[in-house]
Amino acid sequence: MLGRMSRSAPADLLLVNGAVYTVDAARRWASAVAVSDGAIVAVGTGSDVRPLANRETEVVDLGGRMLLPGFQDAHAHPPSSGLDMLRCNLSEAYSLPEYERIVAAYAAEHPEAEWIAGSGWSMDVFPGGNPPKEVLDRVVRDRPVSLWSRDGHSTWVNSRALERAGVNADTPDPADGWIVRTPDGEPSGALHEGACDLVEKHVPEPTPEDWLAGLRQAQVYLHALGITAWQDAIVGGNYPTLEPYVTFARSGELTARVVGALWWDRHRGLEQIEDLVARRERGRAGRFRATSVKIMQDGVIENHTAGVLEPYLDADGRPTDNRGKSFVDPEELKAAVTRLDAEGFQVHVHAIGERAVREGLDAFEAAREANGPNDHRHHIAHIQVIHPDDVPRFRALDVTANAQPLWAVHEGQMDHLTIPFLGPERSAWQYPFGSLVRSGARVAMGSDWSVSSPNPMWEMHVAVNRTSPPGYEYGEGDGPAEPFLPEERLDLPTAIAGFTINAAYVNHLDAETGSIEVGKRADLAVLDRNPFDHPTDRIAEARVVRTLVDGERMFDAGELD
Ligand SMILES: [Zn+2]
Repeated sequence: MLGRMSRSAPADLLLVNGAVYTVDAARRWASAVAVSDGAIVAVGTGSDVRPLANRETEVVDLGGRMLLPGFQDAHAHPPSSGLDMLRCNLSEAYSLPEYERIVAAYAAEHPEAEWIAGSGWSMDVFPGGNPPKEVLDRVVRDRPVSLWSRDGHSTWVNSRALERAGVNADTPDPADGWIVRTPDGEPSGALHEGACDLVEKHVPEPTPEDWLAGLRQAQVYLHALGITAWQDAIVGGNYPTLEPYVTFARSGELTARVVGALWWDRHRGLEQIEDLVARRERGRAGRFRATSVKIMQDGVIENHTAGVLEPYLDADGRPTDNRGKSFVDPEELKAAVTRLDAEGFQVHVHAIGERAVREGLDAFEAAREANGPNDHRHHIAHIQVIHPDDVPRFRALDVTANAQPLWAVHEGQMDHLTIPFLGPERSAWQYPFGSLVRSGARVAMGSDWSVSSPNPMWEMHVAVNRTSPPGYEYGEGDGPAEPFLPEERLDLPTAIAGFTINAAYVNHLDAETGSIEVGKRADLAVLDRNPFDHPTDRIAEARVVRTLVDGERMFDAGELD
């Protein structure tokens, strides 16, 4: 018996004969769990829990399958990803002919749509990462098309969209992005970073009902992957989802537990903090609360907007004069983080390049010096490149490393668009999850869905193997052949902790979820097998067959009855 609640109310549900991985502090195993009123009331063996049953108790024989705490995603964008699933969706495809076919089919199926809007194309399908407008012009002549890239940092548009937005050879690049042009200066069809807005601002905004539909779609999908809680990494800005979340939560339809990270508008200063405090007040309903603030400090490596300490290299390996972007001035970042920390917010920083990571850590250090220690649980997401000097600072400053492990493989974007432009030394500082764990840092994990798949089994597969999961297509140049920086691999218990107790920690949900312990809520996932009994290169094959929140079935593959 690992534990049992002292009161003796009969259990509503017994889960017996399982491989129960509790993820408690000692990482103990059990074989049975009893649930009453949505809470875990006993953890142990079948004979430990059976006395809690009466005639009404449902008894589920797990048949040796694995029972885990429900997964939590520490960085995802569910409402927009759900909306993407409902719009022109290229994310399952990986070639130009497939993109053409999907766009043509979507346009034919939606004759009423004034714009063809969608997302999901990959930069490495196109030379230099820049898709040409002519392809879209061929398939959609009569209407404007604007399609976000998979990573959300670029758009692919047709000629009609450029016309509609008045973007042409005379349009200057905005300060925070650029228009890809032909030699005569005409826009060629790809827009990066801030330049996307030149066209996007003409695309009809999703209505609050559209956002709700996206959220509903996303929740169904995430529950089917065993996910019972997430941190929404952007609430506000281009994702006006605060009211939809509150509506969804108030109606009782929100079954996941969600922390919303309110968007920091980098074009405004500290005066926005008052608004954020007000939004936090409004953003508390049911299982939702908007208690985090997201600051996007840089862009991405692939288009050289991630903030780096030494310049990017050019295609011939020579240093350029480009060190990427700091979207927020580092001194202002310190001031903002210090104020937000004082106001009781958690701060969730997006940092990809090693300079941006350092700027984030410096800001947390400044906040700590000014305000002293507290329990706000700040975190830095993505952490693609970390200078070795900064690795120990995560633990020292008690900043959680929020990792997206699916990206840590040799695939097209890595091999063709990243390594050549970072150079060999810095390329070896990428996704240093093993180094972080060895330094004592807490590593929480997330998907950044829809940038990449939210399937935790695939993500854990990469965290453990640093090779691509069979069945997941990154694109050309991928392949399970060679592990990416194998010394940075994690063991399976650490990867599971990243998607359970450590993600629960950054969500301030670890007192009630994230492990299977008496007194916690019965947020649980059942896998079709125990991955510890199989070779590590088969982790990705494990599937979730049932998901419970508060002991209620949120997903059921129909394999347990
Ligand atoms: Zn994100």
